[in-house]
Amino acid sequence: MTAPDLTRLPPMRTGARIGRLRDAMESTTDVDALLVTRMPNIRYLTGFTGSAGVVLVTRDEVVFVTDGRYRTQAAEQLDAAGVDARVAITATGSNQREILAGALAEAGAPRLGLEAHGVTWAQQRTFAEWFPGSELVPTEHVVEGLRIIKEPEEIARIRAACAVADDALAELLPLLAERPTEQEFAIALERAMRDRGASGNSFDPIVAAGPNGAKPHARPSTRPIERGELVVIDFGCIVDGYCSDMTRTVSVGEPTSEARHMWDVVVESQQLGRDAVREGVTAAAVDEACREVIVAAGWGEAFAHGTGHGVGLEIHEDPRVAATSSATLAVGHVVTVEPGVYLPGIGGVRIEDTLVVTDSGSDPLTLAPKVLVL
Ligand code: ZN
Ligand code: ZN
Repeated sequence: MTAPDLTRLPPMRTGARIGRLRDAMESTTDVDALLVTRMPNIRYLTGFTGSAGVVLVTRDEVVFVTDGRYRTQAAEQLDAAGVDARVAITATGSNQREILAGALAEAGAPRLGLEAHGVTWAQQRTFAEWFPGSELVPTEHVVEGLRIIKEPEEIARIRAACAVADDALAELLPLLAERPTEQEFAIALERAMRDRGASGNSFDPIVAAGPNGAKPHARPSTRPIERGELVVIDFGCIVDGYCSDMTRTVSVGEPTSEARHMWDVVVESQQLGRDAVREGVTAAAVDEACREVIVAAGWGEAFAHGTGHGVGLEIHEDPRVAATSSATLAVGHVVTVEPGVYLPGIGGVRIEDTLVVTDSGSDPLTLAPKVLVL
């Protein structure tokens, strides 16, 4: 494996997404304007990567408001992304209020949508004061509903983030024989991904050996990783804003026969789940495909989480892959398949890949081999 060349990612133009957002506002909501406050959604619509800003989308205008720290960055990034927006730099809240209230009044937008899942109670009260002429309407996942279908440029970034993680793991697996602590191995992984051009972790890596592996979301400890222990390694990185997510479970030297049996069952379950991923299949059916074989092995209770989740600008996004999910997979969805078995006092096994749904089934983006014994 070789590290991907991150200088060759295709340019990303986000401008056309505003038009699709307006269509979605028209067809799935009854709002006249939408105030976008969740940063991943702002990035998706405008290409802006800063940490503060708001975007107001009316029928005819996009108003992007941020503060003085981002004056140059905002202008450059929106321009590079091909976004036609009025950029306003404000120093104070009342300044921000003036600009947004003015744009709303101009647009004649009596119903203003807020992102219900991203606005705090305090923000909602502030906006109610700011916009007395508009009715505030809760909306759910309007921008996320667009983000669920990845464009080729987005898939290229997720694929690159997955390749960085694959390559980092390949370099570091031999290190496990030197009895590093879980923390030492986690830090080495982070470092190896940064060295390959990732901007950071997509989440704090999980490195959980022996009994720690029985906790699906264990934090890396200062305990050395011993021979014959199952080691759950769940990690990912960010490339140009896009996340990767992968889990492998390995053992330095032969583990117990029970551990090997767990690993075989989870690998089979994960393969069945992967095989089920295709356009038109429900996310619940993918979950069922994974769960069946684990239940048949007598470990149904020990698979105590959903099968997977969408991956993109956020590490956990739509669609959820679980028994209770109402999603149906479509071309361009990027999802994980990550069944696991966790036995208290013994350890855990989880195997996870990130896949993109294609015309002809699915394409795995994480490619690290699945090998139990190192
Ligand atoms: Zn993961
Ligand atoms: Zn995951």
